[in-house]
Amino acid sequence: MRAAAALLLLAAALPAPVSASVDTDKTKLLIAIVRRAATARIEARGRVLVAPPKGRRRPLEWKGPVTLRPRIGGLRLEDLRLPSETELIPEGGATIQVGRDRYRGSLILRLDPGQTVTVVERVSMEDYLEGVLPFEMDPGWPLEALKAQAVVARTFAYANRGKYRQQGFDLTADTLSQVYRGMSDVNANVRAAVRQTRGEVLGWKGRLLRVYYHACCGGHTENAAEAWGGDPRDTPPPLRGVRDPWCRTSPYMHWTAYFAWQDLMTAIEQRRNLPGPLKTLKIGRRDVAGYVQDFVASAGRKKVDVDPSDLRLALGASDLKSTKIRRLIVKKHGVEFVGSGSGHGVGLCQWGARVQAEKGRSYEQILSFYFPGSTLSVVEP
Ligand SMILES: [Zn+2]
Repeated sequence: MRAAAALLLLAAALPAPVSASVDTDKTKLLIAIVRRAATARIEARGRVLVAPPKGRRRPLEWKGPVTLRPRIGGLRLEDLRLPSETELIPEGGATIQVGRDRYRGSLILRLDPGQTVTVVERVSMEDYLEGVLPFEMDPGWPLEALKAQAVVARTFAYANRGKYRQQGFDLTADTLSQVYRGMSDVNANVRAAVRQTRGEVLGWKGRLLRVYYHACCGGHTENAAEAWGGDPRDTPPPLRGVRDPWCRTSPYMHWTAYFAWQDLMTAIEQRRNLPGPLKTLKIGRRDVAGYVQDFVASAGRKKVDVDPSDLRLALGASDLKSTKIRRLIVKKHGVEFVGSGSGHGVGLCQWGARVQAEKGRSYEQILSFYFPGSTLSVVEP
């Protein structure tokens, strides 16, 4: 899978980084760890410098936590008045705690137009990944599964870098991008998974592959176009979906979820008005991977198509774990959904990766199973 000729070929295909107005280290990612908050609690652990864009750098004086607040035209850190954008720079291995989590990169404190505060960490890709891995996969899982996750998370980060350019950062630290919580839960396993795959990303035809991952595919991963729209035949082969025998033992393989008629109706009506009370709900088309592409509801005297992804989000993605619904059991006061899998089903199936690793398969084998035809290449930051 790894071809020497493919090394470094992706560098030219990488999106340009966002540039910050304070200093510009283009190798670093800008991650919004606090977004548009009324205040933020900040605590230096070691020597931290306050660096306004103009003027003298000076050490942060406080030993305990301090509160960052907006003021008219700028920021306030306790009683210290700062301009609307200021950087905090840790020195000599110092770290900065923000809320409950600790960070090793420097932090850009920023006043938002709506008089809220945003805190952006400037962090290297590899340090960023150490803060992503424990929250996107159980850090106690086998090393080869964590390595596969590290490559996919790194590829995702490069592919989505600059997505929030307009807001002055590259990625969010929540599920809109990937969950990232600094140094909070890094263990030896996580560190090894990131270091042993340093710089490695998945490519396709010399370009970065737009990758995805999910908890469990329920036996067949999904074609990216079936999940996000478009013609499934146009999907690059690595993202067309594969039959997956590996996640059979996952706790998400079979589940049921019950919803009362009233809750279903309220959920459907978040997106569209129904012409009368909801009477029935049926499965319409199902795609090759087994995901339902539409539900048909009858309300009043009319039939109405219901988008399964919209319904899942409205009912709660952790309650209706996926749209791979095997059948619906209609009950007196509601409907029981009998389903498989957890998540959208596109790309890496994490439970399948875990089982493959337990059976002795390498992360390269796991990645070429879920992304057939892709190449593993190394990018230098
Ligand atoms: Zn699977």
